[in-house]
Parts: sequence; C-alpha cells; structure tokens
Amino acid sequence: MDIQKTVGILLGFILTGCGAASPPYVDPLLLPFTKSFAKEALRFSGRSYSDTPTTTVFEELPKGIAGQCDHRDGHIAINKTYFQKIPYYLRELLVFHELGHCILNRRHSDRPGAIMYFRLTDPTIYAINKEKELKILFVGE
Ligand SMILES: [Zn+2]
Repeated sequence: MDIQKTVGILLGFILTGCGAASPPYVDPLLLPFTKSFAKEALRFSGRSYSDTPTTTVFEELPKGIAGQCDHRDGHIAINKTYFQKIPYYLRELLVFHELGHCILNRRHSDRPGAIMYFRLTDPTIYAINKEKELKILFVGE
C-alpha cells in the first residue's frame, strides 16, 4: 500500500469520527428518481428533502415484492430483477411509493390509481394522471 492511499483512508476515518454526516447512500440507478421526488416535493409542498434521510438500494426481495420501506431506519429496498423489467413510469411510481412510506409517512391508499395504492398502477394511467396524483401524494387528498 502506498503512502497516499493510507493518508486517504485515515482521513476518511477522521471525517467519519468527527461526526460529519454523510448523505444516505442511494444506488446510482435509483438516484434520478430520488432526485425527482425531492424536486416534486419542493414544487408541491415547499418542503426540501435534499437531505433525504433514507438509503435507497437494490436488494433481493421475495417474488411478488417490488419494494419495501423499513421505517425503523428509513431504508428502502427495491427488487432489482423486477425493476429491470419495467418501464420508466413504473420505476418512478415504485420509488415514489416507497419514498411516500419512508419519508412522508404515507400509508396505503385503497383508491386504484393512487401512488400509495397497495398494487402498482398501470404506468400509462399514472403518466396521464401524474400531476393530480403527485399533488395528492405531497399535499393530501
Ligand atoms: Zn406500499
């Protein structure tokens, strides 16, 4: 190991040790969606979630589970196998749904078409009603 690497690692420990908060980890493939969520949150509710207190990563989840939010530590897991198979709008819907749980403390809606509906909505319908559904997600029904 060369000396520069050692210094870098030590510096890392020192920065971690002094309590400098690092932003929660978001998988690069999911980052466009978490950023978009923060942007929409600001637009609809005026609240800034730039320091979103949740990690958002891919994990192996049981078949039939597209994503989940763990409220205890604000951890979002997305089913990668499923994510890779679905179109853009459904990906957005899935990430927004989980962020709705973990960040906005939203529960499931029993209204089909809602972002917080317990089943993922048809992405075409979501795309058409997106503006209305985002308002409901961030501001309420
Ligand atoms: Zn849910």
